[in-house]
Amino acid sequence: MPSSQIQSDTEQILTTEKALGAHTYKPLEVVLSRGAGVWVWDIDGRKYLDCLSAYSAVNQGHCHPRIHAALVEQSQRLALTSRAFHNDQLAPFYQEVCALTNAHKVLPMNSGAEAVESALKVVRKWGYEVKGIPADQAEIIVCENNFHGRTITIIGFSSDTNSRRNFGPFAPGFKIIPFGDVQALEQAITPNTAGFLVEPIQGEAGVIIAPDGYLKQVREICSRNNVVLILDEIQTGLGRTGKLLAEQHDHIEADITLIGKALSGGMYPVSAVLSNRETLGVLQPGQHGSTFGGNPVACAVARMALKVLIEEGMIDNAECMGQRFMAGLKAIQNPLIREVRGCGLLLAVEFHPEAGNVRIICEALMRQGVLVKETHDFTIRFAPPLIITASEVDWALDRINSVLSSHA
Ligand SMILES: *Cc1c(COP(=O)(O)O)cnc(C)c1O
Repeated sequence: MPSSQIQSDTEQILTTEKALGAHTYKPLEVVLSRGAGVWVWDIDGRKYLDCLSAYSAVNQGHCHPRIHAALVEQSQRLALTSRAFHNDQLAPFYQEVCALTNAHKVLPMNSGAEAVESALKVVRKWGYEVKGIPADQAEIIVCENNFHGRTITIIGFSSDTNSRRNFGPFAPGFKIIPFGDVQALEQAITPNTAGFLVEPIQGEAGVIIAPDGYLKQVREICSRNNVVLILDEIQTGLGRTGKLLAEQHDHIEADITLIGKALSGGMYPVSAVLSNRETLGVLQPGQHGSTFGGNPVACAVARMALKVLIEEGMIDNAECMGQRFMAGLKAIQNPLIREVRGCGLLLAVEFHPEAGNVRIICEALMRQGVLVKETHDFTIRFAPPLIITASEVDWALDRINSVLSSHA
């Protein structure tokens, strides 16, 4: 195909999207049509190493053959029953996810935001019925620069103006404290505090890592004050940080853990609220639900996504390749780099503001065959699928090094 024709296909797609779609994202100008493992291809056959992994939904790699087979097999047999009837995939999904995570109860949902919403409902109900908080007085504490999704309740307690502006009025009952600050948590808690919702590492905020031992202290404070600790592990969970759940770095267990994204290996929207018996135990028939939540395809896909994560050693690989990737990023010489940080394969390079908007760097990396996206203005996150090999890490680092060290 002549290159002018190639050009016009991409341009036409971008023009159509711009004309017909709501402009809720600002994607890089690459149109992808195929993926396998850590690699994706654009419509002109150019190959890229995916260092975003759909915000950590594709931890198991693109189009993982075993997850794909589970999707095909189940969708040929039975796709949706609704929860008006039982299906034969839900119970084994519960069993396997509980065995793996130590949870006692599971509430299956679809998107991450739905899992967050569900947890907020459950924690409020627990606050009234178990803790004894007076009617409509329940408070939930959250952190500055959080990202928990895009529903009205959730953005109501976001501290990002662009996410919130002109979407009000918002639901009351939330208090925002600085992330990583145990004293602020201690001070914010009142007898009406039902829960504390926090990300183990703030992914969307730019891979912000709390001081050492933060979660351990948070766990202690929540237990002492009878406050439900809700960890949003939708991005940090399922191997991304080199552990099954990021809470394991601090040797703690949350009361409620939210997972999503990689729960399906990117094959299907599946999320879940995991909890101890007491918290999810407050829900009775008719008080919550979802037509697609817990459907047989979602369960079959999630079961296989968890299975391959464990059986194929992806979590240890994330730890090992994360160290290699981090060492390579730290070796890059550029005075405009302010900090390289991360955990497992959730890594970030933050630039000084003098570097300007780093989108230019993302575009340069794209031309070299490495796909990444800026988070806010000055930070680039690197989060490839957890199946990445040492030679693929080195391949990416060669290109990242040449682009980042020459950026002035
Ligand atoms: C992506 C994300 C969500 C929201 O998930 P959606 O599936 O996009 O609704 C919530 N919390 C965290 C930490 C996330 O990274």
